[in-house]
Amino acid sequence: MDAPTRRPGQTFASLLDATRRIATDVAARHAADVDTKARFPSESIAALREAGVLSAPVPRELGGAGCGLRELSQLCATLAQACGSSGMVLAMHFIQVGCIARHGLASSFFRDYLRRLVDEQPLLASITSEVGTFGETRTSLCAVERHGERFVLNKDATTGSYCAHADAMAVTCRRDAEAAAGDQVLVLVRREDATLVQTTTWDTLGMRGTCSPGFRLESSGPVEQILPEPYADISARTMVPYSHTLWAALWWGIAADAVGRASTYVRGEARKRPGTVPPTATRLAEVTVQLQGMRQQWQSMAQAFDEAAGTPDGEQDLQGIAWALRLNNLKIACSEAAPQIVHRALQIVGILGYKNDSPYTLGRHYRDTLSASLMVSNERIASKNASMLLVLKDAQ
Ligand SMILES: Cc1cc2nc3c(=O)[nH]c(=O)nc-3n(C[C@H](O)[C@H](O)[C@H](O)COP(=O)(O)OP(=O)(O)OC[C@H]3O[C@@H](n4cnc5c(N)ncnc54)[C@H](O)[C@@H]3O)c2cc1C
Repeated sequence: MDAPTRRPGQTFASLLDATRRIATDVAARHAADVDTKARFPSESIAALREAGVLSAPVPRELGGAGCGLRELSQLCATLAQACGSSGMVLAMHFIQVGCIARHGLASSFFRDYLRRLVDEQPLLASITSEVGTFGETRTSLCAVERHGERFVLNKDATTGSYCAHADAMAVTCRRDAEAAAGDQVLVLVRREDATLVQTTTWDTLGMRGTCSPGFRLESSGPVEQILPEPYADISARTMVPYSHTLWAALWWGIAADAVGRASTYVRGEARKRPGTVPPTATRLAEVTVQLQGMRQQWQSMAQAFDEAAGTPDGEQDLQGIAWALRLNNLKIACSEAAPQIVHRALQIVGILGYKNDSPYTLGRHYRDTLSASLMVSNERIASKNASMLLVLKDAQ
């Protein structure tokens, strides 16, 4: 029988309250320093761990809050309004926990791991990128080698967010040395079983706190840490839906904070000339249309996913072309909208948004959202969509 919960009564509402408090009191306070120094947002993540937020996706029967995708999206959007890098770290962690929670329950090892996630709140990172696969996450060059009850897995990753700060990493690779490039599995590698040699730097325009240089990974562990389902299924049914929806939510959070700053600025202008509506107010009204549209896109996707997940027909549909297109379209639309919205907020605020040392500064927001279209390249996604549209019979 499953052990009783060690965090009784934890609900989405209590986690959202905690995340709001952490966003305001912790993440916002350190966001500029995280960005300037390109350092890991350790204060935000420690506070999330302390509040038990890192186990939000763990099913209730294993002691977690059992949050669905819509709820997880709300948590990421809330945190990202204070610090985009913190929001991205939380999103990437939730994606990995979601993969284990949705594809590992048949394994006693992963059920125990999820219980421990509730108690110990480890932070999970991900290594899908690889030198030589050119940003194509659905192929691997490296392969997991099984030697009896143990595996060996070595990988040369181009980009590995916060791997040096994580307690474990979910790593894609070929099923074995004979497998085709697309015949992949997902392996949980614990930090204590891994050697990470940093191979590149992470001095980027934005998302600097994600600390995502290249790494050479050498690892080993028990074979039970290989998720039992093929990565093809995990990717279609969880990794891609969670990634594209949670990323869209956190990009929205960054854009919403930019519009919030523009709104404060416009109100200040209005107070200077009582009885008049400043011309920037119309611009503000216009940009809120785009911001609201963006929010509706990720919210409706998350809701549709939560309705489909767990039902036999829904899980089947998630592997189909129609869902893949919807998710890719969400990613492309929101990754393009986020920097556009920040740009429009900057036109409203003007020079005070352009200055790095003003309370209305928008530099970090701008730079952070520019990563969105590159984080799995929109060009690559668009070309996959083009191929899928050729064979999709019924337009959605
Ligand atoms: C903030 C951030 C955090 C990240 N964190 C991680 C992480 O934790 N783990 C991880 O594994 N990876 C991570 N990544 C890497 C990411 O997931 C992608 O692997 C990476 O951004 C792709 O890099 P690329 O542009 O070199 O690759 P590519 O996709 O190969 O793109 C290279 C160039 O080719 C173009 N291109 C590609 N395909 C086509 C096509 N079909 N048609 C036309 N042009 C095309 C692109 O537009 C681009 O100009 C992160 C990236 C970012 C920005």
